[in-house]
Amino acid sequence: MSLIDSLKKDIHYIESLNSCMNCGVCTAICPSAEFYNYDPRIIADTVQRQDEESIEGLLKSDTIWYCGECMSCKTRCPRCNTPGGIIMALRRLSQEKGWFTESEKGRQQFALKRILGNNILNYGYCVTPDIVKPEMHPEQGPVWEWIYEHRDEVYERTHSNYKQTGAGALRKVDAQRTETNLRSNRRIGIHGEYRNLFPPKSRGRRDGPGKLFSAYLYG
Ligand code: SF4
Ligand code: SF4
Repeated sequence: MSLIDSLKKDIHYIESLNSCMNCGVCTAICPSAEFYNYDPRIIADTVQRQDEESIEGLLKSDTIWYCGECMSCKTRCPRCNTPGGIIMALRRLSQEKGWFTESEKGRQQFALKRILGNNILNYGYCVTPDIVKPEMHPEQGPVWEWIYEHRDEVYERTHSNYKQTGAGALRKVDAQRTETNLRSNRRIGIHGEYRNLFPPKSRGRRDGPGKLFSAYLYG
């Protein structure tokens, strides 16, 4: 299947690209464009041109990882496009193809996912105070160092249930049970026919009944 055909089956893509007129409003509003060599207008245009080589280049680049998914572009585009949504579809395809490993930012995302995943399996949380050691995180500053050293007392005063059984914030989680639950989770693919979730007239949409989509849920 071609890259563009694969994108066209992704509901993020279906919902996000009508037709781009290259006006650049999305770039003007985009906070990531302020900080990176990044231009959502070019992404919308590249995908719209359906040039497989250019799309492959995007999938292997750092560019698709610069978006902060704030969706400011969605509210401003005069053509009701959402470059942030197009990027979601590109990221999914990049991961599916394994091409994210070709970019530094893509590899960073992978490392982050592994770290957070391991934390969930080991502690039951993405992050817990115990693993944010001050010597490893000097950016947290001296206040954190003090909180870390007095964490039993501090969390008791905030009425959390730190490392205790029962309900409440920071409660002890049975990591083994969490792991069992996680391993029993399955990715459920939903493939269906697009039926204009939003009235075409009000949104200026091009989607018509019969358009196919795929979406995934975890359950
Ligand atoms: S995606 Fe929308 S705002 Fe961005 S360049 Fe295209 S038409 Fe303009
Ligand atoms: S969703 Fe992404 S592309 Fe859109 S404005 Fe936010 S950072 Fe920019």
